Amino acid sequence: MSTSDFHTTPLRSHYDVVIVGGATSGSSIAWYLSINPDFKGSVLVVERDPSLQFSATKASNNCIRQQFATAINVQIAQYAADFVKHFGAEFPPDECVPNPPIRNFGYLYLSNSSKFTEVLKVDQTLQASCGAGTQMLSMSDIKAKYPFFYTDDIDSGSLNLVDEGAFNAFGMVQWLRCAARDNGVEYIRNEVIGVSLDGSKVRSIKLQSGGQITVGTLVNAAGTRAAMVSRLAGIDLPIEARRRYTYIFSIDEPLPQDLPLTIDPTGVHLRSYGAKDYLVGCPPIGPDTAVDVNDFSFAEDAWGEKILPVITRRVPQFASARVTNSWIGHYEFNTFDHNAIVGPHNEISNLLFCVGFSGHGSQQAPACGRGVAELIIYGKFQTLDLSVLSYKRIMQNRPLMERAVI
Ligand SMILES: Cc1cc2nc3c(=O)[nH]c(=O)nc-3n(C[C@H](O)[C@H](O)[C@H](O)COP(=O)(O)OP(=O)(O)OC[C@H]3O[C@@H](n4cnc5c(N)ncnc54)[C@H](O)[C@@H]3O)c2cc1C
Repeated sequence: MSTSDFHTTPLRSHYDVVIVGGATSGSSIAWYLSINPDFKGSVLVVERDPSLQFSATKASNNCIRQQFATAINVQIAQYAADFVKHFGAEFPPDECVPNPPIRNFGYLYLSNSSKFTEVLKVDQTLQASCGAGTQMLSMSDIKAKYPFFYTDDIDSGSLNLVDEGAFNAFGMVQWLRCAARDNGVEYIRNEVIGVSLDGSKVRSIKLQSGGQITVGTLVNAAGTRAAMVSRLAGIDLPIEARRRYTYIFSIDEPLPQDLPLTIDPTGVHLRSYGAKDYLVGCPPIGPDTAVDVNDFSFAEDAWGEKILPVITRRVPQFASARVTNSWIGHYEFNTFDHNAIVGPHNEISNLLFCVGFSGHGSQQAPACGRGVAELIIYGKFQTLDLSVLSYKRIMQNRPLMERAVI
């Protein structure tokens, strides 16, 4: 992604819409605004680092699933699958996700207890009622379908092979950003460091470079820094950065078939990456707590101490695993209920949020970006009703708990 053509100084002193953050969420909102014939306004996207190097977006494991515990998240994922199938051929290529745009190897949740099996059954019923293809598998079903797994400790699993697996998430962001710019959205390399209110309205933002811009609507799409941006307007958001490890590894003899995104009962998750290598990720070994947004250090040996013992037990063929790449990423974790916050602040009506995706924001960007654009243009959702994700639920202390967080 070339970033040399991002200027720092905006062309105007006023914009109808200013979006803070130009990664997945911000670019989806910008693109949906730019293609809507009912919207004639000006849009500025302020992105502190157009390389997106340290964004959650860049760290994404590029997975898409309908196996959620809340109906709205199943619907959002279905919207994403349609979006990717429609536009995916236009995304810049990714060697790990060749055509078709979704690698449908599915997610396989493994349960090692009757208690968790009951949870999977409840979720499967909900997902099926929303039209998802999730099926419960017995231990012997799993063994028959994926003979390479060690299953002696497994009680059951759930699997969906329809529109679930991996997609070209970073290609999607590049495409959205490029298309939004082609349609007249202005992107600048700058940082929003101040927000001024006029009564119950946002009046202007202050840029790192020194300028002041008046705004019609301000959208917070600042990812892992969403709470910091919100604080500029005096508002607390229950969002913090949480460290996540990702490793890519190869083995001597690749498996004879694609490995679904398998969620081991330990929380370690692994899947096919390219044609012959694999991706594995996990939360920290110790407590999963907030980290500094600038801290991308490998604080512990997650590969040696946590991942390797798990993957070699689950797939004995992985005994020859060799790491070929690794990275740390930050989830923009919503501590309130692990779900996105989408829509206006309850008092400051021209301040909108598109934040807090808690590890599933790549696939939620198409639906949520469209939803925010609809709020700006029409004052209400038109395509998918996302009102259960509103900020109001936080003020009213009504969590919409998403337990299917990986
Ligand atoms: C390791 C890992 C694996 C993941 N895997 C998946 C997956 O498989 N599937 C999935 O759906 N999701 C996944 N996610 C989650 C997904 O990547 C995120 O939810 C999504 O990318 C969030 O996008 P965003 O645009 O909202 O936020 P970010 O990507 O964090 O972008 C926010 C942007 O705002 C900019 N910004 C912040 N503050 C300011 C400011 N003051 N001024 C200007 N710019 C600012 C930042 O520079 C940044 O570019 C994963 C995340 C991680 C970390």
